[in-house]
Amino acid sequence: MRQSQLFTKTQKHAPKDEVSKNAQLLIRAGFIDKLFAGVYSILPLGLRVFYKIEQIVREEMNAIGGQEVLLPALCPIENYQKTKKEDLDILFHTKMNNGQDLVLGMSHEEVITPLLQKYVSSYKQLPQAVYQFQTKFRNELRAKSGIMRGREFTMKDMYSFHTSQENHDAFYKKAEDAYARIFERLGLGNGKTLKTYASGGSFSKYSHEYQTITDVGEDLIYTCKGCKVAINKEIIEELKRECPECGSNVLEEKKAIEVGNIFKLATKFSDAFNYTYTDEQGKEQPVIMGCYGIGITRAIGTIVETHHDDKGIIWPESVAPFQVHLVSLCQEDSDVEKANALYEELQAKGIEVLYDDREGVRAGAKFADSDLIGIPTRLVVSKKTLENETIEIKKRTQEEPVIVNQSDLMTHL
Ligand code: ATP
Ligand code: MG
Repeated sequence: MRQSQLFTKTQKHAPKDEVSKNAQLLIRAGFIDKLFAGVYSILPLGLRVFYKIEQIVREEMNAIGGQEVLLPALCPIENYQKTKKEDLDILFHTKMNNGQDLVLGMSHEEVITPLLQKYVSSYKQLPQAVYQFQTKFRNELRAKSGIMRGREFTMKDMYSFHTSQENHDAFYKKAEDAYARIFERLGLGNGKTLKTYASGGSFSKYSHEYQTITDVGEDLIYTCKGCKVAINKEIIEELKRECPECGSNVLEEKKAIEVGNIFKLATKFSDAFNYTYTDEQGKEQPVIMGCYGIGITRAIGTIVETHHDDKGIIWPESVAPFQVHLVSLCQEDSDVEKANALYEELQAKGIEVLYDDREGVRAGAKFADSDLIGIPTRLVVSKKTLENETIEIKKRTQEEPVIVNQSDLMTHL
């Protein structure tokens, strides 16, 4: 993509009321725009990151047998009355012309449970796992963590349906493994994101949160060095300040942000909707459910919180908006033509390139924008490099560029 065509621009300053680093950088670099507190537009650069994250999550959900759907955001209030969530403060309400009360979905047990009930009623059709990427609406009290806590945000939510607790538990383990792979692939692995023991509500001993360690995190967790798991604040006293996996009491308190969670629901929602299946003996049994969330927009913010320096964002390769930022300092027509040709050539080789072809922008400003946007590899072409048939190459993580022969460029990418 030619940077001259991008309708967005980088900005020197983020809005004053934006205190979180992720929102400041994402807004300044032109990935998102704030409409009002907790509500953001995702701009062309941001959408490329969004889709990459979504695709990684999709691949891992499909790999454990998930079937993708897209459920409506509008839901009759009766469904929320059945699950006793109609009075929650964070629920947004609206109405039809005929006066019927609706809510904007904050989570989708209220839609998915009656949906599965319609289609799946025999043990022969179970198990099932169904997921979606969808906009959720929550009237959050505080929205100061930028895109990490939105009033409108995108979540991947999966729901599982099993005939027995045992089968459900086996699937839950598979989901744990899938989550570990997802966070690894998003650049949030390697000890950055920890499986964290949390309260299981009334239906299970524990649920699990996936908490990424960051100083701006809204949650407190207690990490166990040995097991690479953590315990959240709610249950630390209940666990007598000991790791539930190894019994160690050497725990470190850290701030973290919850990027995902998995939850055993047992029969909470199947009871609410009276959702049963017929077993092999022809008897009606309640369906055992689980739910598995990941905040997609929160993941964007979390990646930025954990991948930046004072110059800007440093995207992991796997989710970067482009692989290469080709910065042209060429001014004479014949040089510009050569830079254009290089852009075409890289694209023809299947490389995703943002091409800074802007005229009349100083080299220093182009480099500052490149660091702010944070594409993993920067290439610079100029009159000088063209004369020498070389090109300047610099990883976003490196301080100094390296000069390579143009003919060798591909081996460096
Ligand atoms: P939190 O404790 O941070 O409010 P939650 O317990 O309400 O999270 P869930 O309802 O389980 O979270 O939602 C699943 C996932 O959706 C969370 O793990 C998080 O990644 C994401 N999420 C939840 N609330 C928001 C929000 N307001 N903005 C962006 N992402 C969110
Ligand atoms: Mg919440």
